[in-house]
Amino acid sequence: MNPLRFLRATLAAPLSGTANDLTAVRQLVELRKQIPTLYGLLCANACAVAATHYPLAPATLTLALPGTFIAICMARALHWWRMCPEAIGEARAARQLRSTAVLTAFFSVAFVSWAIALSLYGGPYEQGHVAIFVAITVIACIFCLTHLPVAALLVTGIVMSVFLFCCVACGNPVFLAIAVNTAFVTAVMMRVLRTNYRAFVELVASQAEASRLSEENARLAHTDSLTGLPNRRFFFQRLDEVIRASSAENVRFALAIFDLDHFKPINDTYGHNVGDRVLAETGRRLAAFASADVTVTRLGGDEFGVLVRSPGPPEEIIAFCDGICAALQKPIQLGDIRLIAGCSGGLAKFPRAGRAADELFDRADYALYHSKEHRRGLTTLFSQEHEDAIRAERAVEATLRTADLAAEMEMHYQPIIDTGSGEIALVEGLARWTSPTLGRIPPDRFIAAAERCGMIHTVTLMLLRKALADCARLPPAIGLSFNLSAHDLASPETMVAILAAVTESGLNPRRLTMELTETALMRDFERAKSAITALRTLGIKIALDDFGTGYSSLGYVHRLPLDKIKIDRSFMADIDTDLGCSLVSTILDLCQNLGLDGIAEGIETVDQLQAARRHGCRYVQGYLVGKPMPVADLLHRLGVETEMARLSA
Ligand code: C2E
Ligand code: CA
Ligand code: CA
Repeated sequence: MNPLRFLRATLAAPLSGTANDLTAVRQLVELRKQIPTLYGLLCANACAVAATHYPLAPATLTLALPGTFIAICMARALHWWRMCPEAIGEARAARQLRSTAVLTAFFSVAFVSWAIALSLYGGPYEQGHVAIFVAITVIACIFCLTHLPVAALLVTGIVMSVFLFCCVACGNPVFLAIAVNTAFVTAVMMRVLRTNYRAFVELVASQAEASRLSEENARLAHTDSLTGLPNRRFFFQRLDEVIRASSAENVRFALAIFDLDHFKPINDTYGHNVGDRVLAETGRRLAAFASADVTVTRLGGDEFGVLVRSPGPPEEIIAFCDGICAALQKPIQLGDIRLIAGCSGGLAKFPRAGRAADELFDRADYALYHSKEHRRGLTTLFSQEHEDAIRAERAVEATLRTADLAAEMEMHYQPIIDTGSGEIALVEGLARWTSPTLGRIPPDRFIAAAERCGMIHTVTLMLLRKALADCARLPPAIGLSFNLSAHDLASPETMVAILAAVTESGLNPRRLTMELTETALMRDFERAKSAITALRTLGIKIALDDFGTGYSSLGYVHRLPLDKIKIDRSFMADIDTDLGCSLVSTILDLCQNLGLDGIAEGIETVDQLQAARRHGCRYVQGYLVGKPMPVADLLHRLGVETEMARLSA
């Protein structure tokens, strides 16, 4: 081993360069464990040597000098003991190491000079004691300074050169032998030190790399790769942190969820590639709203979560969120394609809307649902009114769970008239539930409740069996139109059970029409398509219900084997306006082109009926031609009609 090369290498390693800055702190951490012990050992050894020379040497050498050394050692030991290496910066750690090396050189010179001075006074025993003191102290220093090799090398170099020189110079063969032994042991120890130190440096480097990789992993695990925004995991982690901080400091914050209004049709019409580019552009636009107080994340799909600290009064935060919606209302140009993704938002404020993460999220989601239904393209703030609605929905769910469904629910039937013949062509079955505790509950409410609490399968089948039995009592020329929920369509088990119920009823499936909404088709297009195919295979017809209120993506109408389109009653209400009139005529043209029957819903006035006829609408339904009624009333009406036809004939 070339000591000069080793000195250069060790000097370079701990004391210079940024690559080793991390090593400097780790070196200090390790040294802090050893150096106070080393000072203690130095003090004990110095005391022992001073004691054996006390009667022989002057007090300056046995009291004053060692006393001063010990005092300095104790002060230094205290300094090290108090040091907190993890808290000091890399640069300070490197400076501390440098000064430790310099101080080590100073101590080495001081101690070895004192030891040589003492050896002039004693006899052979005392001289032997000094030799042992020097040798074991050097070995102890090498051990304790393993993590600062430059200091270990300085001690060894300074002390051993003086010690060996003195041993050789005194001419005593015993001291000569001690010199050879000590030199040999220290050389071996230096070698061991070098190997250990290298291993230490490599370990620190690999730990640094491991921590870099784990930081990178953590970053990736919290980033959405498509938009570059933080992801759902990050959102919920941050939400927990914000809740903790806000609870402790009593600070308010707001949680907003945004959902694109037209993403699904865009994705279905233009493909996933365009869909991805729309999401990436959405991410870019949303990122512009991020700041120290605003965290913007992608929750998944076309849903984005935003956390706003200190959101200000409701008008302010709603305006901020509406600003986000407005940014997404601007067209996205992708080559030749110009798209508008649009978005609606739901907002919940902490602590008003809830104190727990899932509670807040659910409420923001509820408000989002409200926006989608009633205020598309805007943000709704969760309010007391919504809280009351949730409570009412829960009451319906709870009652539904324990209700005697077969006894409490019945079907009413609303006639659908053929405008050509003026006769009832079919009837739409509409469910009615009169709960002994809650009273009459509108079907859209209890159907939604049944969907939420997983009872829709049971409810649909029970209603369908009742409707099939009632239909068997009607003249064979009259068909039955039955409403299916989105959940029914998405569940293969329910579809199988529906087909079985129809077959078991013995009713001609051609008399049956199943009404589906666009929302139901949108949920899972492929499943809906295969469900429709299965129904049609049996001869059942398919009607697209509430046409015009949902996404109205013509792509669906083209791609699905439909038989009828039911024009939502909102269009009929507007039929006397120019816009309403042209919308109805466009939809009816579309029906004609596709060979589908059009059914105008919600006909309440003679004017609406005439307008529907004028536009060539074959079927009409509404309060004007008949309200939903129990099967007995329907049979009565049919009986009366038949009687009147017989009399007039
Ligand atoms: P829908 O399928 O659009 O049913 C038509 C609704 O419009 C019925 O309300 C009906 O009473 C009402 N209606 C009919 N003519 C007129 C009119 O001239 N003017 C006005 N203003 N309304 C009219 P209803 O019975 O309250 O049903 C509401 C919704 O509940 C239905 O809308 C349907 O989506 C759902 N629903 C009803 N029964 C069932 C069912 O058995 N299964 C499923 N899944 N959903 C059902
Ligand atoms: Ca319907
Ligand atoms: Ca309808």
